[in-house]
Amino acid sequence: MKVYKQVKELREALRNYKLDGKKIGLLPTMGAIHEGHLSLARQLKKNCDVTVCYIFVNPTQFNNPLDYEKYVINLDQDIALLASEGVDLVFAPDVHEIYPAGFQTAISLAKLAVNYEGEFRPGHFEGVATVVTIMFNIIQPDIAIFGEKDFQQLRVIEQLVSDLKLEIEILRGKLIRDADGLALSARNSRLSPTGRAQSLKISRGLLAAQRANHAGERNSQKLEDIVRTSLQEEANIEIDYITAVEERTLDRITEITQPSRLLVVARVEGVRLLDNVELG
Ligand code: AMP
Repeated sequence: MKVYKQVKELREALRNYKLDGKKIGLLPTMGAIHEGHLSLARQLKKNCDVTVCYIFVNPTQFNNPLDYEKYVINLDQDIALLASEGVDLVFAPDVHEIYPAGFQTAISLAKLAVNYEGEFRPGHFEGVATVVTIMFNIIQPDIAIFGEKDFQQLRVIEQLVSDLKLEIEILRGKLIRDADGLALSARNSRLSPTGRAQSLKISRGLLAAQRANHAGERNSQKLEDIVRTSLQEEANIEIDYITAVEERTLDRITEITQPSRLLVVARVEGVRLLDNVELG
């Protein structure tokens, strides 16, 4: 596996694969690689000839500067993990390689990006959409994979690809949980053992709501209340939102009559934890 830091070098390396007619697959990440990322890498690998992973902690998507400062990654470890899954190329540029002095362009978004994360993290999705578009342009993949863990982000990217007529197929990767149920995330390492135990109320509440839905409960309020009750068992958990949304539009729904998601974001020890389950 080769690691590139510069756009020019990466483009040269990819040119040869493209001339050979190889199908290029992209896994976008911010590093701190865990089993969630690796499952995406495996799924991607099955669907392309050459797998590229970018590792870039994108400053423009952090509305909270402290969150950016605390986002520590170990590049050597990340590279070793990706290599062990057979990822072919890693692109790990410095910030100035992507945003040189004078950079001033951004993607503007509308409806899908307004609520939920868009409300709690103003400018977040514009930062994500801009960096993903830059990386799409550098790498020009045939296919790219995004996790359902960040369901709103996935929908924003699917819409972006459709609106900008990009010739990139977007794959969806299933949300991966730890053995205890907690959705895997780079931010989990900031939780103390107590905080981590408390945070299990999130996945337990969601999975209980999903079971109720499978057993026939279609009322969104009741399903959201199952999660709220679970979270309220811990005084330490602060709820940002618990919302049942229609999968395609991300509109809030009152009755689950079509493919939907129950989205939850809660804070434990100041760490924002995102999770969701499928409803139908
Ligand atoms: P991040 O490095 O957090 O920006 O995530 C990079 C990609 O991995 C995104 O498409 C995420 O949705 C996805 N991802 C992160 N955590 C998980 C998880 N637990 N399960 C599945 N995909 C994930």
